[in-house]
Parts: sequence; structure tokens; C-alpha cells
Amino acid sequence: MASEGSMTTAQGTIKLVIVDGRGQARGYVRNPQADAPLNAQGKFDVRAIVGEGTFFVTYESGFDIGLYREPYRGSVPLVSGEIAEDFAYYLAKSEQIPSAVMLGVLVRARENGDHFIEAAGGIMIQIMPGADEQTVRAIESSVGRTPHTTTMIRHGARPIDLLQTALGDVPFQVLEERAVEFACTCSHARALALISAMNAEEIRAMLEEDRGAVMTCHFCNATYHVKEAELEGVLRRVEEEAAATKRGE
Ligand SMILES: [Zn+2]
Repeated sequence: MASEGSMTTAQGTIKLVIVDGRGQARGYVRNPQADAPLNAQGKFDVRAIVGEGTFFVTYESGFDIGLYREPYRGSVPLVSGEIAEDFAYYLAKSEQIPSAVMLGVLVRARENGDHFIEAAGGIMIQIMPGADEQTVRAIESSVGRTPHTTTMIRHGARPIDLLQTALGDVPFQVLEERAVEFACTCSHARALALISAMNAEEIRAMLEEDRGAVMTCHFCNATYHVKEAELEGVLRRVEEEAAATKRGE
């Protein structure tokens, strides 16, 4: 994807999913205990877990080269609950880009009942303005014959192999390759910034009750311990700012 983006869906038993990606991806669900029986095909039932809601997409671009532009935001109602179908619907509806999106996650159970992800991945093909009809039809037909992405990944397919299969005879050129990995942007400084956004009373309560603060990142479960002295420093700054606002500075 050329620009940076994030997407969110809501409701269902999962309550909320946030994913942001710039090659580095992270996400969390508000209800990690959400569960559903396997669907009729014996597969993990994403649809049942996601439920109804809205699919929000935010694109931010230019930060890496020091530019700031208003992020582009779009949303559509969830029509499927399967992320790939909803994303394709969003692209067609909100951005008027005909797209094929194929995503898959293969969840397996261990003997002890734990689950693990054996394969996950996806392909997105977008039709650029001015593409000729014949190419579009060729892509549609080869996409239709493409096996499930997780089946291919499980058999060792690399991203380029997935594309090759999905595009069939349509030639393509690799312009850029970037690794995709799980990474979180949280830090001790960010935890402090979050506390700074609270009002003085709330911070005072944290000091009195807990003599500090412990914050856990929803994305990666990292825990940040904010010590009493640090919290007092934050409180002083918040109080100074509130006083300055009151004086009309
Ligand atoms: Zn984190």
C-alpha cells in the first residue's frame, strides 16, 4: 500500500479491532476472549466474531518526509464480517477502486487445546484507471482460480508466488519489497504523554491511591511503571498548564 493506513471494525463479540500498518503492524481486540464455533466449512468463523459494525479506514501520508496533511478518512458498514470482503467493498464503495482482496489466517489447535497461527497472509490487487478490459477480465478469471492464500503459504509460497498465481498470465514487475512484521510504537514517554492528557484531579487520585501508575499497552502487553516522582512531575506540568489556560495565556 502506498500510503500508511489503519483500519477499525466494531461490534460483534470482538467489540473492536484496530490495525495500523506501515509494514509494521499491530492490532488489538477489545474482547480477546471472543470465541465462536467453527463455521460450516470447519474454518475459524471470523464473520461470527466480527459481527455487525463499521469499517473505518484512515490514511496518513507524508510524515516520513516531514509533511503533514489532513488524514484521509473513509468508512462503510460491514457487509460481510470477513475482513477481505469488507475491505474490497470499502475500496469499491469509498475509493471507487475495483479491487481483489484475498486474506487468510489458518488457526490450528495443539493437543493441549491451545491455538496457534500456522499461516497468515494476503494479496490485494487494484485496477488502475485506464486498465484495459482484457487485462481486467484476465485478472478476474485467474483470481477466481487462485487457491486459498493460507493453502499456498502453508506450502511455502512467498509473496511473489502468491501474486504470480493470482495474476496468472498477466505480467508484472516488482517495484519495491518491504518486510512485514509485528511492531509496537508504545514507549515510556508515550505512557507519560497519555497521563498528561488526563486532568489534575485524576492524576492526584493515582498518586494518592497507588503512589504511581502502571500502564499496559493493549497492542503488545508491555507494561510501563510510572514512579511516584515522575507522576508528581506530570501533575505539576498539568496544573501549570491549567493555570496558564485560566489566565488566558
Ligand atoms: Zn505496545
